[in-house]
Amino acid sequence: KQVLLKHFIPEGAPKETDMELVTTGTIRLRVPEGSNAVLLKNLYLSCDPYMRPRMTKHEDSSYVDDFIPGATYALYSLCKEVKLDEANIPDVKAKSKPITGFGVGKVVDSSYPDFRTGDYVWGQIGWEEYSLITKPQGLFKIHHPEIPLSYYIGILGMVGLTAYVGFYDICSPKKGERVFVSAAAGAVGQIVGQFAKQFGCYVVGSAGSEEKVNLLKTKFGFDEAFNYKKEPDLTKALKRVVFDPTNGCFIALSANEIRFTTSLFSMQGNLWFKLTRYFPEGIDIYFENVGGSMLEAVLQNMRIKGRIAACGMISQYNLEKPEGVHNLFLIVSKRIRLEGFVIFDHFGSYPEFEEKVVQLIKEEKIKYLEDIVEGLENAPAALIGLFEGRNVGKQVVVVSRE
Ligand code: NDP
Repeated sequence: KQVLLKHFIPEGAPKETDMELVTTGTIRLRVPEGSNAVLLKNLYLSCDPYMRPRMTKHEDSSYVDDFIPGATYALYSLCKEVKLDEANIPDVKAKSKPITGFGVGKVVDSSYPDFRTGDYVWGQIGWEEYSLITKPQGLFKIHHPEIPLSYYIGILGMVGLTAYVGFYDICSPKKGERVFVSAAAGAVGQIVGQFAKQFGCYVVGSAGSEEKVNLLKTKFGFDEAFNYKKEPDLTKALKRVVFDPTNGCFIALSANEIRFTTSLFSMQGNLWFKLTRYFPEGIDIYFENVGGSMLEAVLQNMRIKGRIAACGMISQYNLEKPEGVHNLFLIVSKRIRLEGFVIFDHFGSYPEFEEKVVQLIKEEKIKYLEDIVEGLENAPAALIGLFEGRNVGKQVVVVSRE
């Protein structure tokens, strides 16, 4: 079984009908002789927002390759005994391949010396039950199979590395700084927030439901969190101001005064509670996951010499033309460093990252939440759910547990 993209999607949210589950005949569970390939039984697949841009045809893609949509030819390479050089497979480029993404698999057969039958690996694999990987150099061996294997498409995989590199390297944090994370209850956001807290920062997250806001405050230890969908004015929402009933005006508070004020006003009713906001002195670090109006609101609230790690802009991925950001001059006037990064450039940091985060997991010093969907046939709906905020935590698809 495989999941294919039927056709390119120029604009709009992806739909289940844009993808199809196909079943092809039996396959040989052996790598072809003379190849340097690895055959995997796929266990867990990752749904990631960057997969949406891959569903649109780009003339010039410097980020990741577009998927190859079309008819059902993808299993060709598994079914036929051919040398697995694609040049030997007639027209394969013009035909389809399954959707690909990060995943965890078990090695069924290998002629690549670094992996043996029975090993677990993670890396780019197909949305299919078995994947023949002809360039296994890109796969990582899983050294800690005692940790849930699905973590290797999340906290111990590309997602965790993104949070690690993005926060520690791109944000250049200092203890005590004020950090804001958008899409904070998702895969990357939940980890960034915890790294920032462990580093000694004040951390606020935004998310799209009350359930997620509660998780941020109770499970992941954010200092504050808010539901951005309930805020009519994001720029104002990011400032922390309270109404001073004595003088009849709004006053800004410092982070130290927050606890005191909250309890004082909560005695007087929820009204005062609702007037509190999050960054009276501005934001030092913004971990950007969504773009659009949130980025505009953040720029308005950034402090001089603040830093923005531009990790992703999910609010833009379904648009044919990205929205403009109107207040970019603030980057100049506030001397902000805004730096985009793509994690594929940083896999060299993986061993250092893995050692640290495995330790944190074993010592239960980091929390991690997955949203697990069973069955390859449910993978399209799970991927679509990312763009509707349906996932609570890292979206994982189970193809097989063994
Ligand atoms: P998440 O697990 O956070 O899932 C996506 C979440 O984004 C949804 O749950 C939803 O949460 C939120 N969202 C969806 N649509 C919108 C919208 N229109 N406006 C605001 N929020 C929206 O995904 P990841 O943690 O995997 O990815 C987060 C970001 O990091 C993405 O932008 C992604 O592209 C980027 N990324 C970048 C990498 C890099 O190398 N630079 C690597 C990995 C990820 P909610 O309910 O809160 O709205």
